[in-house]
Amino acid sequence: MAEIDAETATDPYAEELARLARQARGRLESLARAGAVALPKSPELPAVSRPSPAIAPHDAEPAAEPPSVERPRPAPVASPVVERPRPAPPAVERPRPAAPPTPPRPIAAPSLFGSTGFSTPPLDPAERPAALAVLREEVAGCVRCPDLAASRTQTVFADGAATARLMFIGEAPGADEDRAGVPFVGKAGQLLTDMITKGMGLRREDVFIANILKCRPPDNRDPMPAEVANCVGYLDRQIEIVRPEFICLLGKVAAGTLLNTALSMGRLRGRWHRVHGIPTVATYHPAYLLRTPAAKKEAWEDLQMLMRAMGLVIPRKKA
Ligand code: SF4
Repeated sequence: MAEIDAETATDPYAEELARLARQARGRLESLARAGAVALPKSPELPAVSRPSPAIAPHDAEPAAEPPSVERPRPAPVASPVVERPRPAPPAVERPRPAAPPTPPRPIAAPSLFGSTGFSTPPLDPAERPAALAVLREEVAGCVRCPDLAASRTQTVFADGAATARLMFIGEAPGADEDRAGVPFVGKAGQLLTDMITKGMGLRREDVFIANILKCRPPDNRDPMPAEVANCVGYLDRQIEIVRPEFICLLGKVAAGTLLNTALSMGRLRGRWHRVHGIPTVATYHPAYLLRTPAAKKEAWEDLQMLMRAMGLVIPRKKA
């Protein structure tokens, strides 16, 4: 066995090799002293071929690269769309559709003597003129309003038919009416007559015309509330006797008194009311129409509403 020069064993590997050599030598010397002359031969160990890295010859055809397999790329996983609850839009207070204007209720052709707010049964038509005559006499002697009774020429009871379908009710007599003893005979009266005859196609004698007050207020002033309270009972009895199918209130005093309201005529006109249960229309007083001709259009609309309910023919507009 070759000696291992200890001088050369300067690195850790050499020192280890020298140590093994000394062990082997010690072992052999121990065997020799025990009488051993030969060592058994160790069996052949199969050569272990280590796989050497394959070196392709230079002239060899380069191995065809396997076709690259285009692996289908996994479809990008679409991030799930999270349907976020949309914030509820702020509640918008929608203006309610304006309620369509309530058309005047179709008047179911109220009977001439149909039910009204009166508790008494209607008089026979033949008895009405006489009943009105009795009431007229009573009014003629009335002095409930001392000032009016003192200043009047006469009371102004009414004009027209005791069996009229339509009753016009105004405010109070003026100077002309006070002299004539008949309501609506002055300029305003002439306009009302035209509205009745030319507009509605009726005769003045076909309707009944009365006022809230039966006596003329001096200087054409408005009736005092006390005067209205004193006199309106006569009007109620006139309505009770005549029992008209329709009533047309002329002006704010008549409308305010019988409809018990302070609303302006602009708010009252154009729709139906009831007086003693009788279908009633309110419109401008003829005296107001004389001062405000522009309001005639609305007054004519009110009359047409009345005419439709009464079944009267509305004349076509002239071209
Ligand atoms: S206004 Fe009427 S209540 Fe007054 S005195 Fe004349 S009729 Fe009588």
